[in-house]
Amino acid sequence: MFIVPEAAIGGLITPEASFDAVEAVFAAMSSGKAYNFPVIREAIGHGDALYGFKSGFDRESLALGLKSGGYWPGNAAKGLTNHQSTVILFDADTGRVKALVGGNLLTALRTAAASAVSIKHLARKDSKVLGMIGAGHQSAFQMRAAVKQRDFEKVIGWNFHPEMLPRLAETAEELGLPFEAVDLDRLGAEADVIVSITSSFDAILKDAQVKDGTHLACMGTDTKGKQEVEAALVARATVFTDEVAQSTTIGEAQHAVAQGLKQAGDIVEIGAVINGDHPGRSSDGEITLFDGTGVGLQDLAVAQAVLDLAIERGVAQDVAF
Ligand code: NAD
Repeated sequence: MFIVPEAAIGGLITPEASFDAVEAVFAAMSSGKAYNFPVIREAIGHGDALYGFKSGFDRESLALGLKSGGYWPGNAAKGLTNHQSTVILFDADTGRVKALVGGNLLTALRTAAASAVSIKHLARKDSKVLGMIGAGHQSAFQMRAAVKQRDFEKVIGWNFHPEMLPRLAETAEELGLPFEAVDLDRLGAEADVIVSITSSFDAILKDAQVKDGTHLACMGTDTKGKQEVEAALVARATVFTDEVAQSTTIGEAQHAVAQGLKQAGDIVEIGAVINGDHPGRSSDGEITLFDGTGVGLQDLAVAQAVLDLAIERGVAQDVAF
């Protein structure tokens, strides 16, 4: 069995390789070659922790396994990241454990890759202004991945906690782009692409604030009850997702579906667009919304890519097991 520790991940996988792995697995999901198993996520009644498993199998790449971990709110005080996860890969031919791979950085990379895949396939080609809602840990990864997909000239941003906005300003500076903190009216009126990545439980962005032709990547809502945009905006948009079952239950579309404004059958898997089975955006005025709920197969795809690189470069620790 190989071990690829968390500390080694950053030196192995690039955002570009993460993008390729995630795009490929979304395509495999849509063509029925890869599927996710039901997600388990529980409050374990200890340390306020949420713990769970995301798992699946890709018959094309033979990636089989699970990501296990969750959220420990007390970790920051211990100098640790609140979100903790580890990926375990199994040999699809024998069932033997193949590798233990650190999952923290991979989670950020695969989540940023997912919204970037949506921008590549759904945003208007002439998109110039990137709008960011959210300034937490994930937001910098999201911005770095998003700007590779279009010739953005400016980043604008809003955050519920304004004291966190410097993270967006610093990331934009690192990318050589001007940044401006704006209110939500300006964000919706000016941004061509909007990425939301917050832990909000109330609609932040309202339907009336968003101009025609915008592409939204709603990435924060991954649990029942969470919400980043008004259900009326989801209803107005053509909605794409990683997995329809998650979109309607734990994703951004859950509220529009519960209110009868959208149905599961209206929501398109992004993999169908990647595979050429759905045309994607149909006009410059259409609002496209990617509901990125986060699926186990994304984790397996990037973990498999890291493992291959670690073995190739001789940095995977081989342990008798
Ligand atoms: P973080 O704790 O570092 O940042 C939280 C962000 O949410 C900050 O911008 C904060 O200001 C904002 N926020 C907090 N409370 C809010 C409120 N009441 N209203 C509006 N905004 C509020 O978290 P992070 O690591 O950046 O993750 C952000 C979110 O993304 C989390 O909800 C996490 O579960 C989700 N996430 C989703 C995926 C996926 O695949 N879809 C993957 C990773 C993380």
